[in-house]
Amino acid sequence: MAGLLAARVLSDHFERVTIIERDVISTEPAPRKGVPQARHVHVLLARGLDVLGELFPGVGDELAAAGAERIDFGTDMRWQSFGTWKVCFPRGLRCSFQSRALLEAVVRRRALALDGVRLRDGLRATGLATDPSGRRITGVRVEGGLADELIPAELVVDTSGRGSRMPTWLETLGYAAPEEASVRVHVGYASRIYRRPEPAPGSWRALYMLGTEPGHRAGVISPIEGGRWMVTLIGLLKDYPPADERGFLEFARGLASDELYQAIRGAEPLTDIASHRFPSHVWRRYDRLARLPEGLAVLGDALCSINPVYGQGMTTGALSALTLDRCLHEQRRARHTRPGEELCGLTRRFQSRVAEVVEAPWRIATGEDLRFPEVEGERSRSQTLLNWYARHVHGLCGYDPEVTARFCRVQHMLAGPLALFHPRVAIAVLRRQLGLDHPHAFGA
Ligand SMILES: Cc1cc2nc3c(=O)[nH]c(=O)nc-3n(C[C@H](O)[C@H](O)[C@H](O)COP(=O)(O)OP(=O)(O)OC[C@H]3O[C@@H](n4cnc5c(N)ncnc54)[C@H](O)[C@@H]3O)c2cc1C
Repeated sequence: MAGLLAARVLSDHFERVTIIERDVISTEPAPRKGVPQARHVHVLLARGLDVLGELFPGVGDELAAAGAERIDFGTDMRWQSFGTWKVCFPRGLRCSFQSRALLEAVVRRRALALDGVRLRDGLRATGLATDPSGRRITGVRVEGGLADELIPAELVVDTSGRGSRMPTWLETLGYAAPEEASVRVHVGYASRIYRRPEPAPGSWRALYMLGTEPGHRAGVISPIEGGRWMVTLIGLLKDYPPADERGFLEFARGLASDELYQAIRGAEPLTDIASHRFPSHVWRRYDRLARLPEGLAVLGDALCSINPVYGQGMTTGALSALTLDRCLHEQRRARHTRPGEELCGLTRRFQSRVAEVVEAPWRIATGEDLRFPEVEGERSRSQTLLNWYARHVHGLCGYDPEVTARFCRVQHMLAGPLALFHPRVAIAVLRRQLGLDHPHAFGA
């Protein structure tokens, strides 16, 4: 996904953009080997949808025309976290719900319609080529075609996902590998697609039970194209949801409420149960490397892979593509005397700027997970205080519309985490702690 968005911004700066993809891509939306996570719920946050619309005007309508569901958080969602149903989501916060395969297919069609952008699929990138000094990347080595090949490039953008081999490739060229920040969460996903029952079982169109408490479990019913439900069960800390029918339903029944279980137990399954494991958050700190070659950028999951429960991955990748665009514009405005040095300094500038983009989602997601004492990772001294604060904010979200509205904006990456420290929120947290605040409304 990040590669398609990067291709979109690169097409404004370069005559030719080549997307190298290991899988053979079909024109129809379909799950594929290189993106196993596509068999699970994939929500594009409100900010992600905005960025997509900025890069590909009208893409939201194209998704809707292809069957995507437009969900308004205020009216269509039933949302439980930390065991409490949230009853006051703001109206007007809209998201597009569809399978990941459909989202990718629509975005790919738009990207490949751009002048100069082409896809070379069925090719695996295996390494980098440099100039004789070793300081500038000059292309990518690939295999899988008729013969191994070197594809020359002024700029190589690595968006090969979590399994990126870039650290090893850099070492081969005599550079250091980036240090990796990691928080081990051992999250397991199990998902199955069902035919959406008619009539729907409740007043909701999407059911989200997150917050992974009690028992570190979460579950989601997400409407997708074709009159279907994507049903995903999630367990933290090795509480992996089973991939057999009976175990799947039992796990659903073990959620904080049996509402999801009741909704699916009579529904018609259309697929097998797919499972996926996500061991840890990983952030490769290219921004901290003392030496980096010119002509390289790393973004998307190749740079930072965050616990998917928070749904930030694709939006973070989209914001990172915008950052690449800005850096390239700045580069063009700067004066360079010698031909061939137009991209000089870009790698360092981009990796340091994109680190600022990644920082907020990383802090939100790892901060939430580090609340659990069993989660392995470095805790800051302020963590206990932040956890206490976050717990109250979550509690307030059950019944305080203004706190909920601010929380939703942060959750959808429309505002940074500092918005949760606005005096209106801080005072509400203190009142709650002092027992001066009483919920006016709770969901059933
Ligand atoms: C279970 C699960 C659920 C998720 N749910 C959400 C969600 O709800 N919302 C959200 O925003 N994010 C979600 N994510 C995260 C999201 O999937 C990623 O953040 C996003 O896909 C990252 O995009 P990417 O382009 O960096 O990597 P990917 O989408 O993983 O794409 C990498 C691409 O590179 C190709 N590739 C890899 N190696 C090579 C090679 N050597 N040569 C050529 N091609 C190669 C692969 O085939 C693939 O096409 C979820 C992740 C998981 C695991």
